[in-house]
Amino acid sequence: MDILNYSNIPVMAEVDILVIGGGSAGSLAALAAVENGNHNVMLIERYGYLGGTSTQMLDTFYGFFTPGDAPKKIVSGIPDRIVNLLDETDDVFLRPNTYGAGTGVTYNPERLKWIWDHQMLQAGVNVHLHTMLVDVEKSTGDETICVVWHKSGFHKIRARRIIDCSGDADFCHMADFPYEIAGEKEPAQSMTTTFRMANVDLEKFRKAGGKQMMKQKMEEAVVQGIHPLPRKKGSAHEMVQTGCISTVAVKVSDMMPLQLGELTDAEIEGRKQAFIYEKFFRDEVPGYEDAKIIGLSHHIGVRETRRVYGEYRLTREDCMARKMTDDTVLLCGAPLEDHRKEAEGEEETRWEYIPDGGVYGVPYRTLVPRGSKNSWVAGRCFSATHDAHASCRSMAQTMGMGQAAGTACSLSLDTDTGSGSIDAQKLRKHLKELGAILEMPGREADISKHGWKNNRVE
Ligand SMILES: Cc1cc2nc3c(=O)[nH]c(=O)nc-3n(C[C@H](O)[C@H](O)[C@H](O)COP(=O)(O)OP(=O)(O)OC[C@H]3O[C@@H](n4cnc5c(N)ncnc54)[C@H](O)[C@@H]3O)c2cc1C
Repeated sequence: MDILNYSNIPVMAEVDILVIGGGSAGSLAALAAVENGNHNVMLIERYGYLGGTSTQMLDTFYGFFTPGDAPKKIVSGIPDRIVNLLDETDDVFLRPNTYGAGTGVTYNPERLKWIWDHQMLQAGVNVHLHTMLVDVEKSTGDETICVVWHKSGFHKIRARRIIDCSGDADFCHMADFPYEIAGEKEPAQSMTTTFRMANVDLEKFRKAGGKQMMKQKMEEAVVQGIHPLPRKKGSAHEMVQTGCISTVAVKVSDMMPLQLGELTDAEIEGRKQAFIYEKFFRDEVPGYEDAKIIGLSHHIGVRETRRVYGEYRLTREDCMARKMTDDTVLLCGAPLEDHRKEAEGEEETRWEYIPDGGVYGVPYRTLVPRGSKNSWVAGRCFSATHDAHASCRSMAQTMGMGQAAGTACSLSLDTDTGSGSIDAQKLRKHLKELGAILEMPGREADISKHGWKNNRVE
């Protein structure tokens, strides 16, 4: 950005590892980086709390379990510790996905904000909230200089290693690493403002037919034009808080979140649709007569924007072939779940399952931006095609990516190795020591409502 006069910007810190973005990927990357070595780790986050999408708009981790009749638990390590902490205060339960995509781990997002804080404090991660990456002055060899903005002004951070977990690949964009923008090749996934309703009479709702009845009411409302709902489907599920429902139903298509003005339009459209749903629920769905919206997502949910080109690109074929590679650093068994604008005669969400309830391995190279020596990318901007991303974007997987990237980054400092030259077997050994699952387990998981603790590997 030529308009910044770099020489006038003060240096606020010199760190070993800088993690950009404190979502599920970034928070895990920071914890894994600090726990794997004696390094000075800083995490910057543009908002006032950690968790990103996990606390901004959602309440269910998918991807811990494979779908199907013989579910397996396939993600572990530090992500388990986070769920165990939620479980300690009864802030978690398991529930089946509305569309059969496997068991979700529903949690209290407000408690989760504090858990992320507490974990960072305990681990000694230097967290800076309300601090946004706005430019990269230099990214060569063993040093990167990032420019961040905080209400106190512009500041520089000198870092030996960078992990880009911004969701939008902001660092990779500013440091000139190659990427694809969602929508360039295939239509981008739609955006969703989530909302929560309180005072729902769940007993009455269940007696009237529950989810099946609600689905039918939605379809009737759309067909008969009684309520201008944007889609015929959508999930409304019970929350940890009694009598509260979390809803993923809004659908905003044809807007590009990285285009000036379009994210504003999307936020406004998302809120408009949320209140159309509120009226629909109150008027049509037994049990919702006295319910009201008590919270809209902090940010409209953006499913995909920039996807970095890494040393390897995960493809749909890899997912469907259940491909495992020598550098597998996490597993995924989630179906391709492609939310898109409904074309004539098409389902509004395209589902494609991994054959036989199986899994594929996510290669380490998908976390290394092509040509990079001192940087990594993790989370929803990792290196994958549109289709593969539609499978591998659940939060258990983005946490798994953070765990792998943070561990690799720490290893790279310890062994004085570039991100592209890490010994994958050494990395896998470190990940297994952390508890990561890198081969399909034989044991069937307990997916009953309060079964989380029965899946613990001590
Ligand atoms: C509507 C919707 C519904 C979904 N439903 C589910 C679900 O039910 N279960 C599930 O498991 N997954 C779900 N997903 C997918 C999943 O939530 C995301 O893929 C995942 O949370 C992405 O994690 P992340 O850490 O990569 O990114 P994010 O969670 O987006 O985190 C990125 C973080 O970086 C910060 N940031 C961004 N830019 C900067 C910057 N320049 N400087 C500093 N900080 C920055 C952001 O504020 C944010 O905290 C859903 C996604 C959407 C959008």
